[in-house]
Amino acid sequence: MPNIRFQALRVVLSREIPEVKTPSNKISDYFGANVFDKHKMKEYLSSEAYAGIVNSIDNGETIPRDLAEQVAAAMRAWAMGKGATHYTHWFQPLTGTTAEKHDAFFEPTADGGAIERFSGDALAQQEPDASSFPSGGIRNTFEARGYTAWDPSSPAFVIARTLCIPTVFVSYTGEALDYKVPLLKALSVLDKAAVDVCHYFDKSIEKVNASLGIEQEYFLVDTALFNARPDLFLTGRTLFGHISAKNQQLEDHYFGSIPSRVYAFMQDMETEALQLGIPLKTRHNEVAPSQFECAPIYEEINLAIDHNQLLMDIMDRVAGRHNFKVLLHEKPYAGINGSGKHNNWSLITNTGKNLLSPGKTPKNNLQFLAFFVNTIKAVHEHADLLRASIASVNNDHRLGANEAPPAIISIFLGSQLNDVLDEIDTSRLSKKIKDENSLWQGIPKIPQILKDNTDRNRTSPFAFTGNKFELRAVGSSANSASPMTILNLIVADQLKKFKVDVDKLIKKGEKKDVALMMIIKKYIKESRNIRFEGNGYSEEWEKEAAVRGLANIKTTPKALDALLTEKATELFAETGVFSRREAHARHEILLDAFYKKLQIEARVIGELVMNVIIPAAIAYQSRLVENVKGLKAIGLDESTYAAQLDIINKVAGHINFIKTNVDEMVSERKKANAIEDIRDRAISYDEKVKSYFAPIRYHVDKLEQLVDDALWPLPKFRELLFTK
Ligand code: ADP
Ligand code: MG
Repeated sequence: MPNIRFQALRVVLSREIPEVKTPSNKISDYFGANVFDKHKMKEYLSSEAYAGIVNSIDNGETIPRDLAEQVAAAMRAWAMGKGATHYTHWFQPLTGTTAEKHDAFFEPTADGGAIERFSGDALAQQEPDASSFPSGGIRNTFEARGYTAWDPSSPAFVIARTLCIPTVFVSYTGEALDYKVPLLKALSVLDKAAVDVCHYFDKSIEKVNASLGIEQEYFLVDTALFNARPDLFLTGRTLFGHISAKNQQLEDHYFGSIPSRVYAFMQDMETEALQLGIPLKTRHNEVAPSQFECAPIYEEINLAIDHNQLLMDIMDRVAGRHNFKVLLHEKPYAGINGSGKHNNWSLITNTGKNLLSPGKTPKNNLQFLAFFVNTIKAVHEHADLLRASIASVNNDHRLGANEAPPAIISIFLGSQLNDVLDEIDTSRLSKKIKDENSLWQGIPKIPQILKDNTDRNRTSPFAFTGNKFELRAVGSSANSASPMTILNLIVADQLKKFKVDVDKLIKKGEKKDVALMMIIKKYIKESRNIRFEGNGYSEEWEKEAAVRGLANIKTTPKALDALLTEKATELFAETGVFSRREAHARHEILLDAFYKKLQIEARVIGELVMNVIIPAAIAYQSRLVENVKGLKAIGLDESTYAAQLDIINKVAGHINFIKTNVDEMVSERKKANAIEDIRDRAISYDEKVKSYFAPIRYHVDKLEQLVDDALWPLPKFRELLFTK
């Protein structure tokens, strides 16, 4: 019988492309069809109830009980019309995925019959057992119970016959157990701080919201090949595999024509996503073979994040129908590009103005500069927190590992805006702006269409791209709420300080615009260090960043320290985004996930090496030994089988190296497991256990090159990356 690799390849080559049907040729006909959005609310609710719920959603007010009752009834009627039989609170626990527990609408009645019901209480609140979700110790000392509560700002939707209600997830004692609660808190702090600053320019602004557009990168691999790689299906990445002779060096995949099987998957996935109101707009091939990207049009940030979480789920479900596996891991294959999730972020007022969009008039530009420079200053002050917010065991393969982007947080502005800030910084502006009449001449002209919009610096972790900032360091499998909570929080904090600083000057008698400009100038000076326009991957940058005093923390356990500094604790407490307890809990959960993932990888390496790799190598070696014996028996001299002897020796050398190192790795693992302090344990896993991965892999990959192809049991990179 052929080995599992060849069985898998046979399956792949006989795949047929499933037919993909779209409900209509016009996307607008079915966009949002499975979402209980405002249009459907209007249709299913009385006009008073509709006005009430819209008011609550827009102003973030609590929804009265009787209104919840009416909304629940309307939701049920609509969802049942879509074929739904069950409902679930849909939430984002700290495992990083989404969670749901389905309940039927169906309820037996006293007279032996049954009805379908969905009460306002069931809509508003549920009590899933919190004890099986990570809580970072919160549930140990307090109640095990937790509850989910309806987030009306994100509309309910129907997926696979279940009505899903986006909710927050908190412990019974009120601590956040999810990603959404801190995000919503940070957004509310940001709203207030940004509106206050807007009032220097425009008193009519009542609300500022962040918007977000998430570009999602991913790999596709055939299910049969995926299943033949235990490392892929247990850890999400290949732990072994010699690089394919052809990979991405010809740069012929990026924006290339999309293979038909993949195209069918994309259409199918997009159709589902669009029906769920996810405004997917863009699809293309990415740099690495079998790597792709999709991106929606940006939305209000809370919704954008819910949609991205939902999208990852849909991608996985739909891929199954096409016999594909979606790899969202940050680094599924060593030696070629990994995947990220660019977070495009801006601030938009209730009047529809993008505060990060340079304006037509100097006055508008002053407002732009205020928000632009405060964002830069915020990142400068809290680069460590931003770094911590994107830290994970998977992302360590990208950040600081010679790949996009580096672990050093810096900001790319593009030459035009960089010049504008330099001009303000170095000009004799301070004298000029004292006289209000010449103030406007003191603000350099900012072109409306920035040429750097196209001149992209792909090596920067945080780049300004025309009218938005783009955080590119987020991992492809991450929940964007984590970095976006931090970004919105630090910008909010900075805007608050800005207001205090400006008001102080105004109180001292400066004219408002002069005061604004003076503080902007001061901030530009103070945050200079974080601005970098060059190549973020270069060694020179590492050196220069060190001279500038910028942190370059390459691994997660140390990056996470930023969550517990005095500065962070103060910021969290002041804004209420994380209590001290919550910050500690998150820190612990992240460290726990970090070392456990390494533990799993180490185990998989051990098992595969002993049960799969070494046996295959020995089988080949034995064959060579037989061959040598035969040649010797018929009287040939050693020179005729010198090559065989050489290979036998090499195979033996690799096997010995691998076996010895796996044994040592296991004993390091045992030592690490015995370490009480979780940070020390995580560091030990990172520095001791993980350090064996690369050398073991090197020798396994050498064996892959030596051993007869017919005997090699694991699908090779060329097959994983190119066979479709
Ligand atoms: P790329 O960065 O690949 O060139 P685009 O510039 O088209 O792609 O945008 C990438 C993402 O940024 C998309 O999701 C887009 O909707 C989003 N985006 C565009 N403008 C804004 C904005 N003002 N705020 C937030 N996201 C935005
Ligand atoms: Mg982009």
